[in-house]
Amino acid sequence: MKRLDQLSFDNRFARLGDAFSTEVLPEPIEQPRLVVASAAAMALLDLAPDEAQRAEFAELFAGHKLWSEAEPRAMVYAGHQFGGYTPRLGDGRGLLLGEVVNAAGEHWDLHLKGAGQTPYSRMGDGRAVLRSSIREFLASEHLHALGIPSSRALCVTTSDTPVWRERQERAAMLLRLAPSHVRFGHFEYFYYTRQHEQLKILGEHVLACHFPACLTQDEPWLAMLREVLERTAGMIAHWQAYGFCHGVMNTDNMSILGITFDYGPYAFLDDFDAGHICNHSDDSGRYSFSNQVPIAHWNLAALAQALTPMVEVDKLRATLELFLPLYQAHYLDLMRRRLGLQGAEDGDEELVQRLLQLMQGSAVDYTGFFRELGASEPATALARLREDFVDLAGFDAWAERYILRTEGEGGSQAERQARMHAVNPKYILRNYLAQQAIEAAEAGDYGPVRELHTVLARPFDEQPGMERYAQRPPDWGKHLQISCSS
Ligand code: AMP
Ligand code: MG
Repeated sequence: MKRLDQLSFDNRFARLGDAFSTEVLPEPIEQPRLVVASAAAMALLDLAPDEAQRAEFAELFAGHKLWSEAEPRAMVYAGHQFGGYTPRLGDGRGLLLGEVVNAAGEHWDLHLKGAGQTPYSRMGDGRAVLRSSIREFLASEHLHALGIPSSRALCVTTSDTPVWRERQERAAMLLRLAPSHVRFGHFEYFYYTRQHEQLKILGEHVLACHFPACLTQDEPWLAMLREVLERTAGMIAHWQAYGFCHGVMNTDNMSILGITFDYGPYAFLDDFDAGHICNHSDDSGRYSFSNQVPIAHWNLAALAQALTPMVEVDKLRATLELFLPLYQAHYLDLMRRRLGLQGAEDGDEELVQRLLQLMQGSAVDYTGFFRELGASEPATALARLREDFVDLAGFDAWAERYILRTEGEGGSQAERQARMHAVNPKYILRNYLAQQAIEAAEAGDYGPVRELHTVLARPFDEQPGMERYAQRPPDWGKHLQISCSS
């Protein structure tokens, strides 16, 4: 275990030079206080958990101090936002501080979000507010605990420095960790500005640092697209299986590593609704829950377009066609597990689709349904769950099929429960839970956000005394309006 001052850096992205990022120093926030830290994320850097208690910790992660080996830089990228191309975005309020190498030899980007203005800030103030920083922190660590690929979050600091959004809010900073901060939009930037030399350098960097196995293939660029596509398909399958709605799937928010990235107005479904739109600013529902699948495919096509100077179009097209089948196989596998099914049988896909159809328009809590389904014998569990469905005849027919399918698998109820509880969370990050923790933190009480983080880090475990965090939302918490403003 290391102390804060013992981290070692190897800043590979910074070394790519000024065409890729610009040197910018963080602008500190006043009198920083630590809101919450993740011991699990600290462990990725080999940091001992009690390092978070030192005053230096909050100072470093609020922009007051820097490691001598850090090289803070703002990255340039572009992206398709809500379908339209924005030629220049970039880190408008976040800085890549450097890449820490841990004892296992892994590189972790330290990215400080809310670190002040950069050449890419456009009209923005370069700041992040406490509300959105807490939301990103909680989600990053929780998705990881659920087994959903995600960037990680080390800590949130806050301050009395005021920030204006719809109202006056508190400035905050979030320290994000990821093996890379390269987005689809990085490739688009160099493609559309016709900087093909830089495009190649970027691709070679990504291949060497993140996809070295692709370098042994005949066409490394094509192999890279295939790898990104497979990872993205796996990530989206997890989102759909666990009811996660990202909300802003612009290509600048898509990680080249296929990890959930740039949390904004996200939501986990409470009652199942395929058409759920979690982003209050998404008028057309482009990023609705069920649209996440075709949008991911669309975003991969935008990435493929940026690779056309290096790979023949027909080959890129053929690779893109792999997306849907890969996604569907992954999704079905996850849903079978959620239903407690081990083997694969014809008709499983229909069993899943029919269940979702029945849930639609009923008041079925998506997370609670699967947890309860595993908690008792199928017939007993289904008799209770039936109450929440509108089409009772339809539900009964489904239940009969499900029970038959389950009986065919054999095994004891105890085994079934253990298997199902290991994949069906008891605790999920519901918007109302985040909201309660945020309100307490804005008033200076960080206890609730710390407790919520701890509970959500073990979502599959029974946690005696914490049952209140497993409850369905109260009426006020069902329709919280979360906008892009952060
Ligand atoms: P986001 O919606 O957070 O994914 O951000 C989209 C773009 O806007 C990125 O280039 C961000 O860096 C930039 N941006 C968002 N908020 C701010 C802000 N408060 N100040 C400066 N730039 C921002
Ligand atoms: Mg973004």
